[in-house]
Amino acid sequence: MAGQKTAILSVYDKTGLLDLAKGLHDQGVRMLASGGTAKMIRQANFPIEDVSAITKAPEMLGGRVKTLHPAVHGGILARNLDSDSKDLSENSIDKIDFVVCNLYPFSETVARINVTIPEAVEEIDIGGVTLLRAAAKNHARVTIISDPKDYHDFLTELKNDGEVSEKSRNVYALKAFEQTAAYDSAISDFFRKKYAGEGEQQLPLRYGANPHQKPATVFMPNSQLPFKVLCGSPGYINLLDALNAWPLVRELSKALNYPAAASFKHVSPAGASIGVPLSDVERKVYMVDDIDGIENSPLAQAYARARGADRMSSFGDMIALSQEVDVPTAKIISREVSDGVIAPAYTQEALEILKKKKGGKYLVLQIDPDYVPGSEETRTVFGISLRQHRNDAQISPADTFNTIMVPKNSPPLPESALRDLAVATIALKYTQSNSVCYALNGQVIGLGAGQQSRIHCTRLAGDKADNWWMRFHSRTLSLKWKKGTKRPSKSNAIDLLCSGLVPESGIERDDFEAHFEEGQVPQPFSPEERKEWLGKLEGVAVSSDAFFPFIDNVFRAARSGVKYMAAPTGSQNDGAVFETSEKLGITFVEQHVRLFHH
Ligand code: 5GP
Repeated sequence: MAGQKTAILSVYDKTGLLDLAKGLHDQGVRMLASGGTAKMIRQANFPIEDVSAITKAPEMLGGRVKTLHPAVHGGILARNLDSDSKDLSENSIDKIDFVVCNLYPFSETVARINVTIPEAVEEIDIGGVTLLRAAAKNHARVTIISDPKDYHDFLTELKNDGEVSEKSRNVYALKAFEQTAAYDSAISDFFRKKYAGEGEQQLPLRYGANPHQKPATVFMPNSQLPFKVLCGSPGYINLLDALNAWPLVRELSKALNYPAAASFKHVSPAGASIGVPLSDVERKVYMVDDIDGIENSPLAQAYARARGADRMSSFGDMIALSQEVDVPTAKIISREVSDGVIAPAYTQEALEILKKKKGGKYLVLQIDPDYVPGSEETRTVFGISLRQHRNDAQISPADTFNTIMVPKNSPPLPESALRDLAVATIALKYTQSNSVCYALNGQVIGLGAGQQSRIHCTRLAGDKADNWWMRFHSRTLSLKWKKGTKRPSKSNAIDLLCSGLVPESGIERDDFEAHFEEGQVPQPFSPEERKEWLGKLEGVAVSSDAFFPFIDNVFRAARSGVKYMAAPTGSQNDGAVFETSEKLGITFVEQHVRLFHH
């Protein structure tokens, strides 16, 4: 029949197949089909030819080869070009106009418990994928229907117009490409689990964010994982922490040319620092005054500061270190409650110390320092994919903080202020938003993360900075601990004292008192003592991941010795924020990159 259209049908899921066959038959379409598909249509008494009618070859290899033939793929791939028509006629091939195909259920098969590799292999559809890809490639002329849900609309269009519109062909082609992509990714997922060495391209995890979230895994689709597990086995949240903490310390170290450390919990830093030398009193406050060789290890000093910023929050931390881990650093880590560490290298001796921690289960990860992630990142939330350009904005003390400065004509910021603003800002880049960070002496001293309102971040971080500073008070430094009091218990009692929450009575009071020598239980700080001591905190730098919408943030920062503030601008209240900063003697600099992080 002149101008008769031809369709090839080859479907695993035969839902709606007979309605489709009827519709195609009513439109005078010639139908060719693979074995099972042809059988079903034939049994319903619609005229149907086997694919072998055009291939002149039988299905073979137990169904592995059904439609793979130039008579099929030449007919699908031929364009409306004279040269293509010539090729077809020389080989007695007719053009194919419609392809209807869906694939063997690979995902369903491999989801079965104990499926064998041969069983999975047999479910890898070859000819069907080729039909889909060929027809989708040639969608300028050919219609590819890969979803039984589309049969109805396809037939309606064919009935009304005798043709399928370009717009529909485009949409159907996209759907087919999405199907082959998902199909191939299910296959590579299966074989990655079977064939990629554990810890090379993939690693099964005990569970996801919670114990009932199983299975869980970490993997790289196309390359080796950029880290090795030297000890322990990582959890899902350990990796979220490590993979945020490592870029933080790498960036901090590069920006300020110092070894850097971070202490992470729940995907935000509790502390982050560069290795500025520690004073004697800092060594005491950070509980590292007895660590041999710490004075010669900037890395150990960086971690002492990162861990010391907020010891309560750092309990059970994931640590990131920018340089090869040495013995003093490993010694600090070995006696803290911590979940794991990520670093580019470890000295043999340091590694031995860490491997003994937690009965040999302490997590030690070695990251490839040269690994650079791709420029795009994708995540799935509620089954929906979100993709964005990675936040590769570079923060540097020289370039990030000098666009607008208030007061006008202020002298250039001192190097220490630029350093501390850089520390605070780089920490924020890897902190769950909203976030505000106070920094001093090259370290975070208070960080407010994950608050919905900015003033709550500014308060939370400011309260942490105050608490940090109260730990330097002579009364805190001279606490008389009962022998045997453990480090976490000391940190908890110090936190109660420094944050003004010393219990007054009852079993909570008994518990507090139990940590101190007889008759040496500390008095709470009086409001006057607190005010007097907090008044001595000065030169603090504050950074914010987005603009300050109200002047209350400036008021709160000023109460904690803040002298320098950096934030993006763009608020209706910028003018009032600048003016308030100026009145309070704070130098305000614009930090021109917004740094929301989730
Ligand atoms: P039927 O039930 O018609 O025998 O087979 C339909 C299935 O075979 C469809 O899922 C289709 O994707 C697949 N298929 C079509 N051609 C080939 C081929 O040449 N080799 C293989 N392995 N599968 C094919």
